[in-house]
Amino acid sequence: MTIEIRPRNTRRGRPRAGGGFTCDRCGRDAGKPRVRWPEGNICGTCFHTAVRTYGYCGGCGFERMLPGLIDEKTVCVDCAGITTDFHCTSCGIEAEHYRRGICARCALRDDLTPMMLDNPADPAAMQTLVNIFCAVDRPESIHTWKRSTSVQDLLHRLASGEIPMTHEGLDRVDDDRRTAHLRSVLEHHQLLPPRDRYLALFEEWIANKIAVIGQPAVRRPAEQFATWHHLKRVRVIAAEGKPTRGPVHASKQDITETIKFLTWLHDTHNRTAATCLQLDVDEWLAAGPTTRHLVRTFFVWAKATRINRNVTIAHRSPAPTVTFTQDERLRWIRELLTGSSEALPYRVAGILLLLYAQPMVKIAALRTEQVSTDTDGLRIALGTQPAPVPEPFAALLRLQVASRATRLTGADAGWLFPSFRTGRHLHPNTLMDRLRALGINLRGARATTLRALVTQVPPPLAAEMLGYSYSVAHRHAELAAQPWAQYSTHRK
Ligand SMILES: [Zn+2]
Ligand SMILES: [Zn+2]
Ligand SMILES: [Zn+2]
Repeated sequence: MTIEIRPRNTRRGRPRAGGGFTCDRCGRDAGKPRVRWPEGNICGTCFHTAVRTYGYCGGCGFERMLPGLIDEKTVCVDCAGITTDFHCTSCGIEAEHYRRGICARCALRDDLTPMMLDNPADPAAMQTLVNIFCAVDRPESIHTWKRSTSVQDLLHRLASGEIPMTHEGLDRVDDDRRTAHLRSVLEHHQLLPPRDRYLALFEEWIANKIAVIGQPAVRRPAEQFATWHHLKRVRVIAAEGKPTRGPVHASKQDITETIKFLTWLHDTHNRTAATCLQLDVDEWLAAGPTTRHLVRTFFVWAKATRINRNVTIAHRSPAPTVTFTQDERLRWIRELLTGSSEALPYRVAGILLLLYAQPMVKIAALRTEQVSTDTDGLRIALGTQPAPVPEPFAALLRLQVASRATRLTGADAGWLFPSFRTGRHLHPNTLMDRLRALGINLRGARATTLRALVTQVPPPLAAEMLGYSYSVAHRHAELAAQPWAQYSTHRK
């Protein structure tokens, strides 16, 4: 750097007793000055802003870098009396020197040239790519990106032709986050066609989902169904430029339900997609959550492809009922307590909804310290009064607290439902999607639960334990006293 660093023992400005100094431009206290200009001692923040300021000089009128400040006007180095020459010795523009007299852009070109232009497999493509990197608004961001050895490795292998500059080539690189940046740069400059992110993730999801099926009699039809029916369909949607997120989501559910069914069919009846009987399907549908109905898509496809022409599943009436009866509520509590319909966190979240009428947003953000033990057993703080947690749910809740602790590797933020990917808690939408996918009508479930609770405990106490306002608790108590038909007319 050729920036004037403040010489020792000549501190002008306003030294402070604590050893720091006060910036003469912004007036803030800082550790040490970044530079000393005729104007005074300048802090790092002010310096960086100054050398990124360009325009017509308030003194001489020339258009150039305006790091100086005189009478509230930004001025050039000459008018400000700054003796540093900010001209890049390589390209000649006035800019902050990134290193040894050259600007960040020239430094970047110096770095990338040996890395990417030393006998590359495709010289034209690599030259274009280097030009693109050097032309970005903030070359510093590329410097930061390429500091990682995995990025340097990626660029080397791209130049040598070991990794083809295609979507498929980049797919083979492990480092997702860093290739994602390169991919978006290549797409933006039309060196790669835009690719649908959801489609790409879906392809990967199918491969992983199929890979873990051990039984060939299950794997083969599941894979055919996933690729020939669903993937083909999503590819068509993507090619038409239509959004694929929704269709991918629906396809995943269909495939997941199909694998569950085929696995059960094989394990229970030792039959396959081809030998499956109507009776098997009827048994499966009758004994589980409504999501099992999604296997219908598989059998429609199986009929069309002549894999199985014996099974017919009627369309389910699509209108989801807004009502949610106490029986349904109790059935779901039982299912989530004992069944294996979902992973533990989602079962616990579902029971919190069905026992305490808590909104999903609040459930998602629960912290482990809200669960405590006293002489009467487990309690959970949802309102001002901790609410008792009855067995056997208490055991399940303890398990969730314990299992999340053993699974955490990084910093523990204390979430009851941590997301291991982001370090935050699970998104409420994730919880809602999973519970809805089971067939739970969330809105109905919460209203019905609250109604049941206020008939069991006095509304003021319920309000305190559940974190509801008194008026809401009272309103539900009144509604609970009314016949159901009347209640539904109150809903919009
Ligand atoms: Zn400052
Ligand atoms: Zn000037
Ligand atoms: Zn330069």
